[in-house]
Amino acid sequence: MGEISQHHPSGQDLLHAFEIQTPWILLHQTIRLIVLDYVEDYANGTIWSVGLLRAKFDNDFTQLLNKRNATLKRIQEKGRINISNVQRSHAETHLIEMGVEASINIIQHPEFVSLLKQGSIKRIEPTQSIISNGVRVYNSPDFIHHTEGTETLVKLNPFGEFSASRRQRQAALLMLYGGKDSTILQFSLQQRRWNIKKTIPTDVEVNDAMSLVRLDLEQMEKLYSLVGKNNNLDKVPLADSYRSCMNCQVRFICPSKDGLERAKAEQFTLMCV
Ligand code: SF4
Repeated sequence: MGEISQHHPSGQDLLHAFEIQTPWILLHQTIRLIVLDYVEDYANGTIWSVGLLRAKFDNDFTQLLNKRNATLKRIQEKGRINISNVQRSHAETHLIEMGVEASINIIQHPEFVSLLKQGSIKRIEPTQSIISNGVRVYNSPDFIHHTEGTETLVKLNPFGEFSASRRQRQAALLMLYGGKDSTILQFSLQQRRWNIKKTIPTDVEVNDAMSLVRLDLEQMEKLYSLVGKNNNLDKVPLADSYRSCMNCQVRFICPSKDGLERAKAEQFTLMCV
């Protein structure tokens, strides 16, 4: 919604506010980036020591936090939108240690080591999309691994374990990037441990997942027209359950920060007037 609100007086600030992530989200983004860089260097013949991994983690996490703090300061100084409840953050040692531990846990995981040790592995950019029946889908794997006659599409989910149905949908959409016999390997971080799910989704599962994407698109297009040029965010429905808000990056500017049920009741009233 920030994209279409950029012509509104405070739209640019809103757009930048959407970029402000919580330190917790930045920590998990760093884990992902570190693992991607590690694999890329490994494939090029450079194997990091634990000391190097720790130093890179510290550096990358600090950089992300510094960027966040600078954006926050800029928006707060302009004062056009109220985000006074958001604090600046610094890279705390215990968070760095937690991130380093999670990164080491995956690169030393037997399943991950076996991918690195045999065949070839290639990093895929998250912006790589694929067109399926006229719909552009962004759900790229993080790596594609090949050995003789086999292809494995690897996805990292550092923000926790998905529900079984969501994980299955993600696997089905990942299949769009592979061949009929590709294997999907999903690593999900839960309490510093990586759980692994290996599947080969069927055509039916891929088609079902694509039907949901089409339905989602229709809903998004409807919302776009409701929000319109006046940036009327009151018309955007809030989440059904508070669980959805837990990892939401715009929670601090969402009315639900003071209680989802209350915010929904207020929104309902606004929509009825
Ligand atoms: S905090 Fe919850 S209700 Fe608000 S935008 Fe995020 S998911 Fe939706």
